Amino acid sequence: MIYKQSLLTALLLLLFSVAHGQFDLNHQTNNLFIKPQVRQQILIPDISGYKTLKGDFHIHTIFSDGSVWPNVRVEEAWREGLDVIAITDHLEYQPHKDYTVSDHNTAYQLAQRKAEEMNVILVKGTEITKGEVPPGHFNALFIDDANPIENKDASLSIEAAVKQGAFIIWNHPGWKRQQPDTTKWWDYYTTLKSKNMLHGIEVANSNEWYPVALDWCIDKELTVFGNSDIHAPINLKYDLSNRHAHRPITLIFARDKSMQSVKEALFEGRTIAWYGNIIAGKESLLSELVSASIELKTAFRETKKKGNTWCYAELNNTSDIPFVLQDKDGNEIVLKPLSSVIVKFDKKTAALNYKVMNAFIGSERRLEINIPSL
Ligand SMILES: [Zn+2]
Ligand SMILES: [Zn+2]
Repeated sequence: MIYKQSLLTALLLLLFSVAHGQFDLNHQTNNLFIKPQVRQQILIPDISGYKTLKGDFHIHTIFSDGSVWPNVRVEEAWREGLDVIAITDHLEYQPHKDYTVSDHNTAYQLAQRKAEEMNVILVKGTEITKGEVPPGHFNALFIDDANPIENKDASLSIEAAVKQGAFIIWNHPGWKRQQPDTTKWWDYYTTLKSKNMLHGIEVANSNEWYPVALDWCIDKELTVFGNSDIHAPINLKYDLSNRHAHRPITLIFARDKSMQSVKEALFEGRTIAWYGNIIAGKESLLSELVSASIELKTAFRETKKKGNTWCYAELNNTSDIPFVLQDKDGNEIVLKPLSSVIVKFDKKTAALNYKVMNAFIGSERRLEINIPSL
């Protein structure tokens, strides 16, 4: 009898829950138009001994003149496939400060937990923001406390950051509002560099890039950066529905995915700026990255003509970076991300030689590559 009663109760509960699950008059959900929490994979190969990380070291929030809350910046970066970011609100410009109770460390504090949850490395940073050039604007990264860095005098401000072990970037050196005629190197930066108070330059910022700044980085051994300087929500500025669209990104070649390794890589200059379809940086790093990205597969066909043997083979791009290859006759091959083209070459050829038209190793120098044909 007891058995029958409990069976009946279970049956009633089951019927109730099925009915409940089928249609609850009090609460129904529909996720049809909800954006799933998905991370886009950015496929870029590692190079010898280093992991290729994707970073953006120049981001604003509502705690300066941005329009986004700090933890949302972390999720935007995670969704876009980034591994490391720095929130760098202006020290000297907070147009929303009447509406916030904050100091210069608040944005970092509000983003930290999200960064831990999403495995995004969050570098503590700030933007030292002086009007004219020089001095201009600088990002101080890997700082402990942004508050004592604020100072009317730019040099004292940078000095306070450097005392905390900061890495200093000269931001947007060709920004027209600061440099209307020309993008120019000033003695001020030579002095900073000589005092170990300048470590890198943004060769790309937002929708601008400054080829001449790449020459400065190469000549003066400064680290190259491609940063977004994003103020708006990221998908209001970039069409991220396009699989290959991305903000300006700094590629970092780090020993592993850790704060310490990122810091070491920046101080040792192991970065490439990736802006639109352009990559820019040191020849050795670009050469390694392009070689790791492009492979020539074994020839699938051979034909003989006038004593020559012609091979047909697939040239394959395994990365999300497109490559525009120019041969010695000026013919161009566009090797789109994650795709292949067929190339025809004489079997006697030891290597296929191309100039990579979108890989800059100087303002007017493109990377040249040799892809072994055997
Ligand atoms: Zn700025
Ligand atoms: Zn900025």
